[in-house]
Amino acid sequence: MSLLSVSELHVHFPIGGGQTVRAVDGVSFDIGVGETLGLVGESGCGKSTTARAVLRLVEATSGTVTFAGRNLQLLSEGELREARRKMQMVFQDPFASLSPRLSVGDIIAEPLEIHRMFGTKRERDERVAALLNDVGLSPAVMTRFPHEFSGGQRQRIGIARALALDPAFIVLDEPVSALDISVRAQVTNLLMDLQKSRDIAYLFVGHDLSLIRHVAHRVAVMYLGRIVEIADAHELYVNPRHPYTRSLLAAAPIPDPTRRRERAPLDGDPPSPVNLPSGCRFRTRCPYAQAVCAEVDPPYVEITSATSHRAACHFAMELPVWSERN
Ligand code: SF4
Repeated sequence: MSLLSVSELHVHFPIGGGQTVRAVDGVSFDIGVGETLGLVGESGCGKSTTARAVLRLVEATSGTVTFAGRNLQLLSEGELREARRKMQMVFQDPFASLSPRLSVGDIIAEPLEIHRMFGTKRERDERVAALLNDVGLSPAVMTRFPHEFSGGQRQRIGIARALALDPAFIVLDEPVSALDISVRAQVTNLLMDLQKSRDIAYLFVGHDLSLIRHVAHRVAVMYLGRIVEIADAHELYVNPRHPYTRSLLAAAPIPDPTRRRERAPLDGDPPSPVNLPSGCRFRTRCPYAQAVCAEVDPPYVEITSATSHRAACHFAMELPVWSERN
């Protein structure tokens, strides 16, 4: 059963002159208990807005988000605050997301205080010490301040804060992108270990396809506000069926320089989300576009039901065989 279910989510921003930015334009996905869905795409494709709309940090124009069986859009302020105990977020920039005026202990304890989750100061400090321990930091650091820590340590503090209320679901918005390469693997492995020990579901937003392959059980590829392909992670990387997914994979660096890969280069910038192309929104950059692509918005084609693999392309079943190693 799904823990989180997102259906036909739209987030449109009016910008004056009768124009609208269609940042999120009909996004649907499910995430199960303890599962990671990777959400990938170029910058500006709507993936971070989707993540924020799921938590109601931005209001959706339409669509539903159901968490643990409850439609979040129908909750009152009080009910939403209660639901948010189980839904947390870790931000991309650990330098900007932690208040510089609060000690580490105060930062981590803040959600506990808001929800009145402890009785005495001693209980509070014990809880903070346990959370620091869980993220690989010494409890002795709770009296220190964020500026005294490296980027990787600050992100661990942000993760400890997100864990404070024992969440079932965390949005990870590019959680290691701002970190030095040398510490990215450590923080990524910490997140994966915490998921295993606590059965937390993640929505992992990112643009690094190798990292997403490493962390995600399923992957959704977004282009101009819409998911164009979604599948189990292995299936998506070995049998991509949408030309945009192929372009992203072709552009990603290969760790082994002796290997080559089918080329499907991605030319130019995406069109404006204010003026979407007719028909398929990828057609202006697609090497496989045909006349029908300008006329008909492609529905999802089921590639394999066993791996829940779907792609929104008229020719998803007719593309050449993809090879990671050719
Ligand atoms: Fe390309 Fe047409 Fe498929 Fe769109 S529907 S991705 S334009 S081939």
